[in-house]
This record gives sequence, C-alpha cells and structure tokens, in this order.
Amino acid sequence: MQTSLTGYIIDLMEELKSFIRNSKFTTAFTGAGVSTLSGIRDFRGKNGLYNDEDADKIFDLNYFMRDPSFYYKRSKNFIYNIEEKEPSAVHNMLAELESDGNLEAVITQNIDILHQKAGSKNVIEVHGTPMHHHCLKCKKHYSYEFVAAIVQQDEIPKCDDCGGIVKPDITFFGEQLPAGALKKAFELAERSELMLVLGSSLTVQPAASIPAAVIRAGGKIVIVNNMPTPLDEYAWKLFPDLKQFSEELL
Ligand SMILES: [Zn+2]
Repeated sequence: MQTSLTGYIIDLMEELKSFIRNSKFTTAFTGAGVSTLSGIRDFRGKNGLYNDEDADKIFDLNYFMRDPSFYYKRSKNFIYNIEEKEPSAVHNMLAELESDGNLEAVITQNIDILHQKAGSKNVIEVHGTPMHHHCLKCKKHYSYEFVAAIVQQDEIPKCDDCGGIVKPDITFFGEQLPAGALKKAFELAERSELMLVLGSSLTVQPAASIPAAVIRAGGKIVIVNNMPTPLDEYAWKLFPDLKQFSEELL
C-alpha cells in the first residue's frame, strides 16, 4: 500500500484511468481554468477581464447594437488571434482521449475555440462561439476566419449584402444561451457514466447544472479545480491541479 501523498494520487489516477478505459460513455465539461493555462485571461478571476474599466460592456448586447466597434477593438487580441494561442495540456489531453475513442464530447463554457485548435472534434459550446457570425439584419453568415482578417486590420465587419451589424454567435448579456447546444449538453450529461469537470467554479447557471445532471442520472463526476465548487461533495474524486492532472492522465 502506498502511504505518501504522491503515491496516494498515483493510485487514484490509476483507478480513474482504468474507469475511463472501461466506461462506455465519458464526457468532459470545461471552464475558464482550462483557458488560463493557455495564457488566456478569465472573466472573474483575480486578473480577470471584468476588472478592466468598461469590460462589462464588451459582451453587452444593447451596447454592441449601439457601438459594435467597442467589442471588436477589445476582442482583437483576445478572441480574433487564435493563430497566436496554443492549446494547454488540458486541451491536448482531451483531444487525445477523444481520438483514442475514450471521450465522446467536450462541453465547454469557453469561447476561445482552443479545444478545436487542439483537435477535439465533438465540442459543444454552451456560451456560444465566435466560429460563426451573423448579420443582425439579414442573418447572412460570416466565418471566424473572414471576420478575424478584418478585425486584425483594425476594421469593423459590416454585412456586404445589407450593411447590417455583424455579430459573433457568442452569447452576450441580454441573450439566451444557445438552446440547441444546451439541449445537446444535457443529453450527453444524462448518458455519461463519467464526466471530467475541469477548471470550472460551477457558479454560472445554467451551464453549471450540466454536471449535476450526470449525478442525477446515476453517473460519476470527477472535479479538477483549484477552488472549491458547489458540487464537490457529490464528486467521485477531486483533484486541485489541472496541469498535473492532465499530464498524469495520459
Ligand atoms: Zn446583412
């Protein structure tokens, strides 16, 4: 029997790895902590985006309709610079689990498309996504790449058919979360024998109720976060360090 703390963690990891290999349906749920490992600022943390002056206006729908340039200028080096960003150990670990056939889907609260960059194929973005943009007037679709090229030249995208405002499909304050993505997320949760809950404080609703749906349906959750969460007491296993967890899981 292992007695040291390291030995104890190794035993826990071995048990978890064996469970994942035998599980017929494993999913992951990721939050801001996964992205901060990639050097991306979170929203509400100590150095979070929302500490900046006026930051609450970036994703405010009413403000965006009046002045879309504010959002595009502020998110130029935050959302429209995917080329410069590198997936973290967590993103890579999840992409590898999926390609090995050991992970069904990643459900994410993040809007930085780093799971896709790491190679994850089945990504459910419950707070919307900048992968797609739409004209608010005529609904014409614009891709991330198209818009990013414009924003990187310090210009503001406009609909080339009708001149309307082009908005990312990110869920802004004042909008409902995407119903289709949310429905899919709950369906996946209810089928999960195991859900890895990574880097989320589980405080933003209704997204945080997705891991709770796993528990209700009889599945297990593993929580990896550097702060306590409201679901800790229901977790099968708890780990504090995301980076270490991801490196040791592979
Ligand atoms: Zn238009």
